[in-house]
Amino acid sequence: MSRIYNFSAGPAVLPEPVLERAREELLDWQGLGMSVMEVSHRSAEFIEYAERSEANLRALLGIPSDYRVLFLAGGATLQFASVPLNLAAEGTTVDYVLTGSWGKKAAEEAARYATVNIAADSEATRYTTIPDPDSWQVSKDAAFLHYTPNETIVGVEFHFIPEVSAAPLAADMSSTILSRPLDVSRYGVIYAGAQKNIGAAGIAVVIVRDDLLGRARRITPGVIDYKVMAESDSMWNTPPTFSWYISGLVFEWLAEQGGLEAMGRRNQRKAAKLYAAIDASEMYANPVDPACRSWMNVPFTLRDPKLDKAFLAEARAAGLANLKGHRLVGGMRASLYNAMPEAGIDALVEFMRDFERRYG
Ligand code: PMP
Repeated sequence: MSRIYNFSAGPAVLPEPVLERAREELLDWQGLGMSVMEVSHRSAEFIEYAERSEANLRALLGIPSDYRVLFLAGGATLQFASVPLNLAAEGTTVDYVLTGSWGKKAAEEAARYATVNIAADSEATRYTTIPDPDSWQVSKDAAFLHYTPNETIVGVEFHFIPEVSAAPLAADMSSTILSRPLDVSRYGVIYAGAQKNIGAAGIAVVIVRDDLLGRARRITPGVIDYKVMAESDSMWNTPPTFSWYISGLVFEWLAEQGGLEAMGRRNQRKAAKLYAAIDASEMYANPVDPACRSWMNVPFTLRDPKLDKAFLAEARAAGLANLKGHRLVGGMRASLYNAMPEAGIDALVEFMRDFERRYG
């Protein structure tokens, strides 16, 4: 068996030790003679595992005690609706900052439930910039201000936490959570789909401040009502237990790697290597303002798009997979999540140089 370097934007590469452990435990989890998928979520073993995984996540992110951690089905997209349904009372306004298509989709979903004010939008630069927070047009009494700290498709990332209004900050951290240390106390609610830096698809992690619980509209389904889910330890219904289990293994792996300080240093170095190679070449380009280039998702184009097909085919043959860019921007995209080893970036950079020598 040979593993390739998987640059997919998600579902994405998982740490090999996590996959090996899941394989080892698959038929007999915790000596129960069953897989974790066959165990009740209400069993003592699963509840203990769930509590331990939450404690490990809390330790990694330094989550303050007045925040609740929820493990919810439905992925990040369901949170696009869950955030307004939980935080915005009928008739209120919500602020959205758009720096890419995920933020735009989140705002469109919120518009079903609240009056959406687009406080800033970088579409005019094809989402290659982050508008200066001083220019954001926030509303006076917004129920929250939503933004996307890392836009997965265009590779635009906030390297700061915006502080522009009194409204609670709501952040879609799907493609950046756990990539570096985070000051959770600056947020009202953080959510992230699991299939990039957390684990397997099927679950979203929601971190919400206590005082924001209990504001859900009457029509909010129980399974996305933060208070209902917090009071039932995310087990008001059957949670996606296998995804939860994989997340727990990833949290243990992250602690073994030295935690988020160590991951942050490693991720910054990995991204810097790839951007340096792109910038030094005649063949490749990344259009994003260097101040907000993503550490997690690095799109790049070839000077001659006619070479895209050859690039992808030869990269795949060299063990470098899933480099095709999103259909909205074309070209290539390399996602460099936590589980992508530095050797993967080295191999990619080497391949790119060699390709340029041969085709440039
Ligand atoms: N937000 C961001 C930033 C994403 O990258 C994605 C998925 N690529 C989503 C939301 C949607 O996530 P899901 O498919 O888990 O609903």
